[in-house]
Amino acid sequence: MTLEDRGPGPDAVYREELLAGRFTIQTCADCGLASFPPRVFCRHCGSDALTRVEASGHGVVYSTSAVRNRPDKGGDHNVSLVDLAEGVRMLTRVDGAAPTEVPIGARVKARIVTGDVPHVVFDLVTE
Ligand SMILES: [Zn+2]
Repeated sequence: MTLEDRGPGPDAVYREELLAGRFTIQTCADCGLASFPPRVFCRHCGSDALTRVEASGHGVVYSTSAVRNRPDKGGDHNVSLVDLAEGVRMLTRVDGAAPTEVPIGARVKARIVTGDVPHVVFDLVTE
């Protein structure tokens, strides 16, 4: 069996799940660890026994950078790394703070943004 026989690739499946309102990550049936971004083989042990599970959506800001941009190109925003509760680190955006003031270590919660390319951003957890 070739990889092409397996149906849609992991990225396509991830986007389909987002469109259906589910933020999923992969976990490995062999080593039990989580992988992200979507991939064919486990990033820890190389197994192809990856299954999709719905992520809790809970995370913590690991690092952040402010990106300055023209207003017609989306304006200033942040690019942040968020550590998910499941043990994977995700390149994303954190909403709810100015681009230069995203607090490192803050708790965040995932939110799915649908559109041309569905993706996940995070909101600061304030309470
Ligand atoms: Zn594994």
